Amino acid sequence: MSSNRLTGSARLKLDLMFDGLRYSEALGAAAANAFPNYYPYRFQPHEKNPTGKQSIDIPYLMRLEDGTLIRIKGNPDSPWRVMGEVERGYTLVHDSRPQRDELSITFEPLPGWMTEKTLDGFDKSRAGVSLHGDMAVINVAPGCDYFLEKDNDGRSLRCTFCAYGAPNERISHFGQQAGHPALPAQTYARMRETLHDAIADGHIRHIYLVAGSLPDWQLEGDRFLSIAREVQEVVRHRIPVACGSGALPSAQLQRLFDEQLVDAVCFNLEVWSEPLFSKVCPGKQKFVGYHRWIESLERAVELWGEGRVYSAMVAGVELEPEFGMSWQEAADLAIQGAEDLCARGIIPIYSLYWPIGGRDHPDYFDRLLAYFEKLNLAYLALRRRYALQIWEGFMCHRCAYMQLECDLDRSPAGGGE
Ligand code: SF4
Repeated sequence: MSSNRLTGSARLKLDLMFDGLRYSEALGAAAANAFPNYYPYRFQPHEKNPTGKQSIDIPYLMRLEDGTLIRIKGNPDSPWRVMGEVERGYTLVHDSRPQRDELSITFEPLPGWMTEKTLDGFDKSRAGVSLHGDMAVINVAPGCDYFLEKDNDGRSLRCTFCAYGAPNERISHFGQQAGHPALPAQTYARMRETLHDAIADGHIRHIYLVAGSLPDWQLEGDRFLSIAREVQEVVRHRIPVACGSGALPSAQLQRLFDEQLVDAVCFNLEVWSEPLFSKVCPGKQKFVGYHRWIESLERAVELWGEGRVYSAMVAGVELEPEFGMSWQEAADLAIQGAEDLCARGIIPIYSLYWPIGGRDHPDYFDRLLAYFEKLNLAYLALRRRYALQIWEGFMCHRCAYMQLECDLDRSPAGGGE
């Protein structure tokens, strides 16, 4: 493919992922009915701020008219803002474009069940069921033991980009114990009740199981077997379920498959090449290892077949200064990895890396954008060459909020120009 620019909705999504939205009254008001953003909007001193607060809640996800889903980032310097209100609808406006170019958008709503309580009086919003568009993510054991493990220099073995797996007070209500796969019956009961109500809403098309990792991958497999059994008690195979664990040993894969507990698997390799993997994911490298990780993915392809085995990648973490790579080198390495994985029948999914430390130098984001665009165009060509399609049961454009593959696959022009 000779094109080197994304077009259409994929282009707009990419721009909005980077530009974000600046505050408007409409954006602030929309938060009342929208699925809440994990990151509030923080006003900058130079910014006009009619709220009198330092930060406010904003919606998490917006949707274009054609269904494209986009994560919202608050950015006081963005050229984009939102106008409108809930009854008349919302439009997206760019400072340098005429008003006739306004785009209709919607915000992902806050579902009714999220404001309710379980039978034992617990908030359903904390019961381990969350939503990304039409995907329900089940996470009843978010604590990752890699945070507790240390290397010889006393550094944590967690993945360098991970901000969500810390086993702390925030997640103590799940009753998870370090080193143990089992969870309290009450945790599962709350999750089942909440998932039942979420499915009854009628919008969920995919279910994705995740959890923190255990240093013993067999125990991690045991945990996922239990979670998948509990989930299938509610789902009863009406909606596809994917296992988003770490790589698992063959015996556990076989059990997941034989019991027909999941329809797809996704073991996140995160980065391509063993040197990068060992630096970015030191826990995964120590307790599983790069080659065993890929072997486990290959074994999964033998069991579930092509199109059902995925690996999420943190696209752009390679641009962190410590790796000393230009964006072109990083993109070339990632594309090489995409080709290798595709040749093995494993489908990588590239989620845009968002630097935790807030690299606010504009040049950093320019390089990240150039990298992500080049990678996505090259990977689109590879999917076509290897005749690999992202299975609709696994994910689609209605849930892919930080990824472009599903948007590009459904674009007639292929997203390039
Ligand atoms: S395995 Fe890595 S990415 Fe996953 S929760 Fe643990 S530290 Fe975070």
